[in-house]
Amino acid sequence: MNAWKELDKKRLDKYTFIFMYKMKNTILSKRRKGKFMYYPYVVAGAGLAGLTVAERIANEKGEKVLIVEKRSHIGGNVYDSYNEDGILIHNYGPHIFHTNDREVYYYLGQFTKWNDFWHRVLTQVDGNLIPMPITLETINRLYHMEMTAEEMEKFIEKRAVPIKEIKTSRDVALSKVGEEIYSKFFENYTKKQWGVDPGEIDTSVISRIPLRFNRDTRYFTDKYQGMPRCGYTRLCEAMIQNKKIKLLLNTDFEEIRGEISYGTLIYTGPADEYFHGKHGKLPYRSVDFLMETYDLESYQDAPVVNYPNDFDYTRITEFKKLTGQEHRKTTIMKEFPKAEGEPYYPFPTAEARAQFALYQEEMKAEKNVYFLGRLAEYRYYNMDAVVRSALNLYREKLA
Ligand code: FAD
Ligand code: UDP
Repeated sequence: MNAWKELDKKRLDKYTFIFMYKMKNTILSKRRKGKFMYYPYVVAGAGLAGLTVAERIANEKGEKVLIVEKRSHIGGNVYDSYNEDGILIHNYGPHIFHTNDREVYYYLGQFTKWNDFWHRVLTQVDGNLIPMPITLETINRLYHMEMTAEEMEKFIEKRAVPIKEIKTSRDVALSKVGEEIYSKFFENYTKKQWGVDPGEIDTSVISRIPLRFNRDTRYFTDKYQGMPRCGYTRLCEAMIQNKKIKLLLNTDFEEIRGEISYGTLIYTGPADEYFHGKHGKLPYRSVDFLMETYDLESYQDAPVVNYPNDFDYTRITEFKKLTGQEHRKTTIMKEFPKAEGEPYYPFPTAEARAQFALYQEEMKAEKNVYFLGRLAEYRYYNMDAVVRSALNLYREKLA
């Protein structure tokens, strides 16, 4: 299975290498002759946003598309690969697909079969590993009690802090669960993840984590949830099989911006980079991903374990427990959030949003350019929301 996967990957690499060699030469020689290579559609960035829109343009509209990607691979942050021990890892952090959007689920389902998967997370609090998000199970384990759902409701109600106007993630947590649970589960994790107090970030961030008065310990309860059976990279490869789609890897859009001409550009990179930082550098949160492989069948009791109060990392992912792969070794990943580096998360503050709004004004003035995806739209999108946004863009503006 792994050997087969490797072979297949080499085939893609060889194909893209030959193509890219020719492509770069063509671009350069045309420029030498004072002409520009023309594509009706150019997509900057081969993440889920870019691939979805390219797939639609080629397969639905029947038009040619050039995808320009600065990394050496497609998939953006959903890219996965086999490491040297043959374990399938998510190179840019754990990715679990979950959605209530039926169309998005079936759209992606054209390119992959799904493995059934219900994500579960444990969190280390007071030296114990207990289920996250906060459920009846979490509270009973935390306080060594045997409460019923009704008792939990009263218990939480007594502790919840009344806050008139919910303005920040701190307000969200305090008003839902009160001081003690807030400080044990949310405060320090959030400080590590974002580098600021939860009182400084948008309500939407901690609101991602539900509070449940039952024993359902799943991290997500969306109707559709799963792992692509052969991984995300295979899913992404399947999306761009059409010969009308050309892929140029290892190329920053900036490098060829002045060398090609196009009818329409779909840009999925960071919003501020497109405008050369005219209104200042937009803050994005970055992460260092540290991998470790152990000669162990199993490393931890859940696919993801969160560490709100201990260590410098936020969480540990054990990949085999996400992918279902069987292997005598196991690879884990620790996540160390940081301010500088590859942009992964748009920064969720009113100030950052206001700065982004200046770029949004600039975007309006761009002719035949659409800004799409987590980086260009500056939104804390999950995968399903990115695909939704791309399908909408195609339908409303490009079809
Ligand atoms: P990206 O994946 O960032 O793709 C953008 C691409 O554009 C990149 O490949 C980049 O190299 C390229 N690019 C940028 N600038 C240029 C340029 N100038 N020229 C050429 N190429 C350029 N979502 C979920 O639904 N479930 C999860 O469990 C989940 N976990 C996550 C964990 C982490 C650590 C992170 C960071 C994200 C997670 N997400 C998850 C979110 C998910 O990764 C995103 O929603 C999705 O991948 C965004 O796709 P995108 O195409 O908008 O952006
Ligand atoms: N969060 C927290 N404690 C946790 C898990 C999450 O305080 O144990 C907060 C934190 O602010 C985090 C946000 O909830 O950034 C969203 O968590 P999620 O698991 O959705 O983060 P992602 O997987 O997107 O990094």
